[in-house]
Amino acid sequence: MLGSKSRLAIELSKLKVFEDPDPHSEQYPTDSEIAADMLWKASFNEEIPNHAIADLGAGTGILGIGALLMDAKKVYFVEKDPKAIELLKQNLDLIRKTHEIKGEHEIFQGDINEFNVKVDLVIQNPPFGTRKEHADREFLLKAFTISPTIISFHKAVTKKFIEKIAEDNHYKITHYWEYDLPIKATQLFHKRAIHRIKVGCWRMVSVKLDTMRPHLTTTYINNR
Ligand code: SAH
Repeated sequence: MLGSKSRLAIELSKLKVFEDPDPHSEQYPTDSEIAADMLWKASFNEEIPNHAIADLGAGTGILGIGALLMDAKKVYFVEKDPKAIELLKQNLDLIRKTHEIKGEHEIFQGDINEFNVKVDLVIQNPPFGTRKEHADREFLLKAFTISPTIISFHKAVTKKFIEKIAEDNHYKITHYWEYDLPIKATQLFHKRAIHRIKVGCWRMVSVKLDTMRPHLTTTYINNR
């Protein structure tokens, strides 16, 4: 396991990102510092080491690869875009060559709706629904069916929507962090080279699990 959050961020910054992002699929990669911060917090709660994790809409794999670097037992990368998967495979090769990775991985090329493996944790940075309204809804609905714990990025302004969908599906939001996600001009139709959008990262647990493991919510590191 990597010894520090900045080390993790540095390793993640070496990964390839989308060469030709498709604005319709909202392929906005998670920034390496933000991915490292989220993974570090999840690792402190022992949600990553020795756990099975699904990275839904994995893109080029930054979240799931970070989880492998933090000693996940197995990571499922679920992605529909073959071009993203090509880069994901190159990133996995790089990381396996340069680090001793104990965990396994499996790539599911296809729609998240076809993925039905039960896991301990879902980590996801889905399309935000800027192009297709609530494109992130189906990601959350899928996550609710396969995992008792979910860590998910969405636009910060969708707070009310996230709170409602979590409650309706019997998940309790235990943590919320906010980040300014840098988006390169190539990914949007903007004049500025880098545009930032406020994203929230929600951690939620199934209400049933939460009552079984109350220590999880009290010991969680929430220092941001
Ligand atoms: N998780 C990555 C990529 C985020 S962009 C990161 O954090 O950097 C969202 C990704 O979801 C894109 O790669 C897009 O191709 C993928 N995606 C969108 N809808 C999908 C669906 N229904 N099934 C599988 N993948 C999907």
